[in-house]
Amino acid sequence: MAERPETRAPTWLVVARAAKGFMPDDEGLALHRAACQAAASYRGPLLEVGAYCGKSTVYLGAAAAEGATVLFSIDHHHGSEENQAGWEHHDPTLVDPASGRLDTLPTWRATVAKAGLEHAVVGVVGDSATVAAHWGTPLALVFIDGGHGAEPAWADYRGWAPLVIPGGLLAIHDVFANPADGGRPPYDIWRAALAEGAFVEESACGSLRVLRRVA
Ligand code: SAH
Ligand code: MG
Repeated sequence: MAERPETRAPTWLVVARAAKGFMPDDEGLALHRAACQAAASYRGPLLEVGAYCGKSTVYLGAAAAEGATVLFSIDHHHGSEENQAGWEHHDPTLVDPASGRLDTLPTWRATVAKAGLEHAVVGVVGDSATVAAHWGTPLALVFIDGGHGAEPAWADYRGWAPLVIPGGLLAIHDVFANPADGGRPPYDIWRAALAEGAFVEESACGSLRVLRRVA
């Protein structure tokens, strides 16, 4: 029997759920809700670090579209350490045969197009810390899910957290209290954000933490 129209998921959600990536649906929906809240403030665009094939991009981009703002989505699209050949999260279908390097940009573009979000999502291709060093626009929400090593994670936190507007949101992915569940750097930057006093905890879902700027 056909699904009743009112129970059918919107196109963007169908695309987000089907996209390759590292974002469970409950966390994606929590991210979407936080982004809707931030977008409704009309005080700045949204920005994500770590786009991969566009899964989180769609959860966030749909919120940007709903709030008539935009999402800047940063990635150099050559993958993190764990995405390289021989590592746990390597996908050989994402290797560009011409260069022999991982290249998630074509898949990312296709995901955003399929979701109908090209008007609300702007891809920024490059190194996150380099972009941050030249960025001036205050942001209603920053989502950090880029390199998970100590150096990139701290560079993302130091580079992007200061650009969150007062009352705006800082979301961090892969925060694991138990070291057995995942690497330390995302957890460490989450702790620092709270300890340094500028952010308070807003919500949590799985390994997603959402903080609000209070100072
Ligand atoms: N948010 C994605 C998963 C991101 S995986 C999802 O929902 O599925 C981490 C991504 O960060 C990778 O695509 C990798 O290319 C990117 N990345 C790692 N270090 C980076 C850096 N220094 N600058 C830009 N992107 C980086
Ligand atoms: Mg992640």
